[in-house]
Amino acid sequence: GFTGLALIDLSGPLAYLRAMSLRDIITLPDPLLRQTSKPVSGVDKATRKIFDDMLETMYDAPGIGLAAVQIGAPMRMVVIDLAKDPDARAPQVYINPEVIWSSDERSTYEEGCLSIPDYYADVERPSSVRVKHLSLDGKQHEILAEGLLATCLQHEIDHLNGVLFIDHISRLKRERVVKKFTKAQRLGKL
Ligand code: ZN
Repeated sequence: GFTGLALIDLSGPLAYLRAMSLRDIITLPDPLLRQTSKPVSGVDKATRKIFDDMLETMYDAPGIGLAAVQIGAPMRMVVIDLAKDPDARAPQVYINPEVIWSSDERSTYEEGCLSIPDYYADVERPSSVRVKHLSLDGKQHEILAEGLLATCLQHEIDHLNGVLFIDHISRLKRERVVKKFTKAQRLGKL
């Protein structure tokens, strides 16, 4: 099971609800997606505002995970919510998340990405990972993630390192999707 998940205190983000704003999600081939995000040195009002915007943007999309760089803020911040029911939201926030152990056992999930809309592909990754991260109160946590959470965390942490899920598929498939998005951008369809 999962331990030490950084669940947001409802008095936190909801207190900022009126200040939340929907942000544009950058898409392939935006070069920012290939940039390495910077570590967060301290949690302040601006950090909380970015998290609030990330959550609002992720829920609106809708998606189950989002990295700050996807809204144009290349900082090591990730939000995840795996709850299927919108009435049972369980937002998780991760600051400076880092994989410190991965299992030899691997699992395959069909992945998609809000920055590569309407494209899905099977990706094989370690089934379980141990992730070190900070929570909003600045405390350090370590969690053992399995199943969908393990995959989602690896996908989002990849974003912080400029890596996309299409980097884990065959070169032929990757080139095809990059070409498609580059062409769409040129035609002004994105
Ligand atoms: Zn993604």
